[in-house]
Amino acid sequence: MENNPIECPDCGESKQLASGCEVGQILNCAACGTLLEVLSLSPPKAGKAPQIEEDFGE
Ligand SMILES: [Zn+2]
Repeated sequence: MENNPIECPDCGESKQLASGCEVGQILNCAACGTLLEVLSLSPPKAGKAPQIEEDFGE
């Protein structure tokens, strides 16, 4: 199997994609803690996951 390093867009850290990883999967960058969304598998590409803001309103 080939290696599929995916790069964190925030800190540039390379991260190994787990086998069975799918587009849309949310990963956590071990280096900076940013949540990443898998955008593409070939070539492996990640973007920042949509921010989930705590908005409890009132
Ligand atoms: Zn990172």
